[in-house]
Amino acid sequence: MGDGPVDPRRRVPRTDTLLADPVLAAATATLGREQVKAIVSHAQGRARRGELNPDEVRDAAVAALPTPGPRVVLNATGVVLHTNLGRAPLSPAAVAAVVAAAGHTDVELDLATGRRARRGRGALDALRAAVPDAGAVHVVNNGAAALVLAATALAAGREIVVSRGELVEIGDGFRLPDLLESTGARLREVGTTNRTTLADYAAALGPQTGFVLKVHPSNFRVTGFTSAVGVRQLATLGVPVVADIGSGLLGADPLLPDEPDAASTLRAGAALVTASGDKLLGGPQAGLLLGDVEVIDRLRRHPLARALRVDKLTLAALGATLHQPDTPTRVALHADPGALRERVERLRDRLGVDGRKAEVVPAVAVVGGGGAPGVELGSWALSLPERYAAPLRVGDPPVLGRVVRGRLLLDLRCVPAAADEAIRAAVLRVPGDD
Ligand SMILES: *Cc1c(COP(=O)(O)O)cnc(C)c1O
Repeated sequence: MGDGPVDPRRRVPRTDTLLADPVLAAATATLGREQVKAIVSHAQGRARRGELNPDEVRDAAVAALPTPGPRVVLNATGVVLHTNLGRAPLSPAAVAAVVAAAGHTDVELDLATGRRARRGRGALDALRAAVPDAGAVHVVNNGAAALVLAATALAAGREIVVSRGELVEIGDGFRLPDLLESTGARLREVGTTNRTTLADYAAALGPQTGFVLKVHPSNFRVTGFTSAVGVRQLATLGVPVVADIGSGLLGADPLLPDEPDAASTLRAGAALVTASGDKLLGGPQAGLLLGDVEVIDRLRRHPLARALRVDKLTLAALGATLHQPDTPTRVALHADPGALRERVERLRDRLGVDGRKAEVVPAVAVVGGGGAPGVELGSWALSLPERYAAPLRVGDPPVLGRVVRGRLLLDLRCVPAAADEAIRAAVLRVPGDD
């Protein structure tokens, strides 16, 4: 026998070897031996056809086992907060906190006294510390739940005064007006789509008013002949102002000058601010409520608050995110285009060594997640023929890019640098004939 290259197909692992793998063997207990065997032979087939390296067959089979949870993907779309991809990825600190909190925790117990304590006070204290302008805070399951709780506790059977320019659809067909009216509150719409004045609000106020709602129209912009009334002016009307800022920025970010933040909104006079945890804050899905002590007390004592109660894993992730705010979301937002370009060039060069022709092109990344619609983030992408899009999307791990004018662009802004190698390997697994 020489030391010449062995035909890779000869190195495809045997079925019985694969079925003896601990993970695959365990899967036969739940899925049955036949289904696991079918998955294994599919992976072997891919290796025989050259779509997979023989030493990747086991991993491919494990990855193809039907799992009840969502699959992990690489986000090369250039959309920082992609709703279909789960918005903000958690930081390593938040992931560690979630894993640690998966067991028994003191989530509702004061260890010093042995008595029941306010649920999730560690995370709540961290949120208050991050926004000292808030008298008190509360957390529910998502931004929509925060609004529903506010509308129910503060305006059910009464009126919410809101500008016609702020009655937005938040996505997937869900509209704020319907959400608010589902609580039994009535909407008192004022102004027009493009212009609303303080006098419009003032004329609508009366004993039936629950609160004035200010919604940040986070996923679109109205330009031209427009006017809107800010929280500072609304706060002079003598009724509580609830501000849905959407994005979850706690303090101002110079990169996003048009995004309202919780601290400034409270200082402007809002009685209550609502926001999402998994947008610009970069934490878990959650609804943040920050505001006056009496308002927050009414919200958390309302019976509905129990139905919107947040999970201990969420509280763990939120607390860790607030303690260590250098989240992957922030890293992606503030990534230096020069450094991104170098990463893409390195990727192109290494793919070139393996005979794959790719180009390095400038790209425009966006915040996404219904946030900062006017902000364009200069970025760089690897450009491949469009035919790569589908196999990369269904590969393992799935790699998601953006098809622009017949080319697949893989924008590295939201890809952790440590995953560049995984992208390279994924591209090489697509049969190449270009
Ligand atoms: C995103 C958003 C919501 C909904 O928040 P979820 O966390 O997705 O429930 C509501 N209002 C505004 C202004 C938003 O941007």
